Amino acid sequence: MFDYLIVGAGFAGSVLAERLANQLGKKVLICDRRPHIAGNAYDHYNDEGVLIHRYGPHIFHTNSRDVFEYLSNFTEWRRYEHRVLASVDGQLVPMPINLDTINKLYGLNLNSFEVEKFFASVAEPKEYIRTSEDVVVSKVGRELYEKFFRNYTHKQWGIDPSELDKSVTARVPTRTNRDDRYFTDTYQAMPLHGFTRMFENLLMHPNIKVMLNTDYREIQQMIPYREMIYTGPIDEFFEYRFGKLPYRSLNFKHETLNTPTHQSAAVINYPNEHLYTRVTEFKYLTGQEHTKTSIVYEFPTDEGDPYYPVPRSENTERYKQYKTLADVTPNVHFVGRLATYKYYNMDQVVAQALAVYAKLADHSRWQPQQNGRVLAATNQTV
Ligand code: FAD
Ligand code: UDP
Repeated sequence: MFDYLIVGAGFAGSVLAERLANQLGKKVLICDRRPHIAGNAYDHYNDEGVLIHRYGPHIFHTNSRDVFEYLSNFTEWRRYEHRVLASVDGQLVPMPINLDTINKLYGLNLNSFEVEKFFASVAEPKEYIRTSEDVVVSKVGRELYEKFFRNYTHKQWGIDPSELDKSVTARVPTRTNRDDRYFTDTYQAMPLHGFTRMFENLLMHPNIKVMLNTDYREIQQMIPYREMIYTGPIDEFFEYRFGKLPYRSLNFKHETLNTPTHQSAAVINYPNEHLYTRVTEFKYLTGQEHTKTSIVYEFPTDEGDPYYPVPRSENTERYKQYKTLADVTPNVHFVGRLATYKYYNMDQVVAQALAVYAKLADHSRWQPQQNGRVLAATNQTV
């Protein structure tokens, strides 16, 4: 009898497996329908020996000391600060928009003070910032919005920024200084030997059994367990009873090139050209030295694996219906980006999983003991 069946071996599932096994001595079966662990953070060496991220570029960054220290138990780190260029008006300029972006784009020589005045002169103040269009236009005006955000967002999400929640484009700041880092978090680093190795370490415990190529529905009736942790799409769990929740997907086109370096930054965004949004060159992220280099193009699509919940009010309302049902579904805990329908970064998923663990641990402590075993909150008899 397993104490927990965990569905999905991404960050949410693997962190919970580790905590429950390691800290509470629980017996855990973790399954994933994919042929590998690590969820969307999965990385591997391709046929040419270059370390690539199968599901697009994953860069770790967090302000949470707890999350960073927790993960540091399972990996060493390589310092890495991410930088992105955007291809706009025939030039490659820093993204997020900063002082150098404006000077290069318009052939100016402004200082920080002057660029602040420039933004103020072009910004269109809004009483309520509600949408992804409002966020940008109210800060940098319509022209820069059109050049950097409107088409990229439309390509990425399949809808106009005016129909998307403000939180989406608010992920990308605007700066008046020359800081060209994509993130400013306190902790920015990549797992020294890759994400998958870190996941192997997370799951390396005698109480954890891993089953790959397995949809939980294939084993649910055959393998006894007390509680489930579910990290897949929440609407799928409930067989779409309130209708489908949209998850945006991507087609990845991976290429390996016979040259040590391909482009001048880790990521180049193409807001206004091509069907893809961005091109990533992995060696910048991984620090690997190799005579060849590998890149990936991201083509957004509605079909395919669910990657991004789509933050807009009608989806939030539908998610709330599923959440209400989830709250009264006994012995199942919904965790992670797909199961809680939140546009979370990796560190936020780790923090969420640790918070769920803390609740489960608390609960477990207060359960009556029977035959030396902790009885979980379930109707099943031991
Ligand atoms: P997932 O990693 O999706 O894991 C869920 C797992 O559940 C999957 O492996 C799936 O196969 C499995 N599953 C689902 N249903 C079933 C079922 N019925 N039976 C068995 N298994 C099932 N975050 C960052 O912090 N930095 C970044 O730079 C970054 N870049 C990203 C780039 C892209 C292109 C994408 C798509 C995401 C990016 N993220 C990034 C976000 C990051 O991928 C997520 O925050 C994180 O991986 C979510 O972990 P999770 O465990 O919730 O979900
Ligand atoms: N975005 C944009 N232009 C860019 C970069 C980002 O319009 O050059 C918008 C777009 O809507 C994107 C969002 O900002 O989906 C968040 O960007 P981020 O790089 O965080 O996206 P992710 O890495 O999660 O795909």
